[in-house]
Amino acid sequence: MAHIVIMGAGIGGVPMAYEMREEARKEDKITVVSNNPRFHFVPSNPWVAVNWRKRDDIEIELKPVLAKKNIDFIDTGVKRVHPEKSQLELNDGSTLDYDYLVIATGPHLDFDAIEGLGPHGGHTQSICHVEHAANASKNWEAFCADPGPVVVGAVQGASCYGPAYEFAAIMDTDLRRRKIRDQVPITYVTAEPYIGHLGLGGVGDSKGMMESIMRNRHINWITNAKVDKVEAGLMHVTEFNDDGTEKKKHELPFKFSMMLPAFRGIDAVMGIEGLTNPRGFITVDKHQRNAKFPNVFAVGVCVAIPPVGPTPVPVGVPKTGYMIESMVTATAHNIGNLLRDKQADQQATWNAICLADFGDSGAAFVALPQIPPRNVNWFSEGRWVHLAKIAFEKYFLRKIKKGTSEPVYEKYVLKALGITKLKGQVTPKVPADGI
Ligand SMILES: Cc1cc2nc3c(=O)[nH]c(=O)nc-3n(C[C@H](O)[C@H](O)[C@H](O)COP(=O)(O)OP(=O)(O)OC[C@H]3O[C@@H](n4cnc5c(N)ncnc54)[C@H](O)[C@@H]3O)c2cc1C
Repeated sequence: MAHIVIMGAGIGGVPMAYEMREEARKEDKITVVSNNPRFHFVPSNPWVAVNWRKRDDIEIELKPVLAKKNIDFIDTGVKRVHPEKSQLELNDGSTLDYDYLVIATGPHLDFDAIEGLGPHGGHTQSICHVEHAANASKNWEAFCADPGPVVVGAVQGASCYGPAYEFAAIMDTDLRRRKIRDQVPITYVTAEPYIGHLGLGGVGDSKGMMESIMRNRHINWITNAKVDKVEAGLMHVTEFNDDGTEKKKHELPFKFSMMLPAFRGIDAVMGIEGLTNPRGFITVDKHQRNAKFPNVFAVGVCVAIPPVGPTPVPVGVPKTGYMIESMVTATAHNIGNLLRDKQADQQATWNAICLADFGDSGAAFVALPQIPPRNVNWFSEGRWVHLAKIAFEKYFLRKIKKGTSEPVYEKYVLKALGITKLKGQVTPKVPADGI
């Protein structure tokens, strides 16, 4: 019998547990350790922040659903990983030994890197966690009763740009529905060197299309931007030229602001030599396995992936749903093989497929592989994306409740986009104007 422990119960961790149950032997024990008794569907957080969803709509109590699949669950959280002892130190002082560990703890949100940033004592809202989004929704209602300027975007070192664009457009849609859009100047502030870069060096004509979308929605923007500090109602931003020299200082007044922070690794792994890079992301090989501690694997946002190239202001690479799903499938297969004295041989396809909702329409992009030049480089806009995102939310929540292990993107999204084969040659049949 082997004990496989999964640390983290988010978009990566819970599917990891289900797929591991399928790949492990009957006698193997699987335990999930999280610091939260509930799963929440992170991509729906922007909807919670404008009150289109309640947090209960997108949260699931984990213990009963995992128990149905014979998976143990501990919700005390991990204080420190001790990989040299194959042991976790939990927040309640107890310890947990493992034979294999999968780290799926997502990011630590680095609000502290910028004075005045974030919802804990700072002046900006967040949509990264459902709790933040629920708090933001109260501020949103107060703001709508007394509107003014909005500043929205992603700070230097951020790696998650899709949700920043989504939230800018969702606010625009919500304000138009409330018939107060004319009272709200919106400025999008981003570390990206141009609109539509997305941390991926652009996808298809994402630059032209996203600029057009922003213009149509009357959203102004500042790119190559570094947020210096945030005061109550005022954001201090420095804009840089493409050669890295300073272009202009901005003082942006706001009545409501949401800025995505930079991510780093969680404290429980920070500084463990051989396990993490300097920012605390887990270093893994092509089989999702750590080189120094070969019984440790990692999936999701906590994995170290280098940026696509240098930019005047630091810009990270997004780790999105499809990439996470393929990391999960490869890891479950590889641990399954090791349990049977075979080699870890499956690789994740680190490609990006993303649906960004704009409230009444949306944008979809497919970047295969993630780093240009690519075999598939496709970007499209339409109402179908908004509907697809709602369908995806419903499907994913049902999957978590039911304990199904099927990979969503492999089974449905790729097929819907006409991408039939991912290993080796990619065969895209993506229609010009979407599905
Ligand atoms: C607002 C937002 C919207 C997004 N929308 C999309 C989208 O539409 N499509 C897309 O493809 N991607 C999207 N992403 C990107 C990505 O899919 C998500 O960030 C996703 O949640 C990452 O999954 P994860 O499992 O790596 O981390 P998470 O889902 O954040 O899960 C991390 C888990 O680890 C737990 N944890 C943390 N610390 C500890 C500890 N010390 N001990 C134990 N457990 C711990 C947490 O409680 C949580 O359960 C979005 C990201 C954000 C922030």
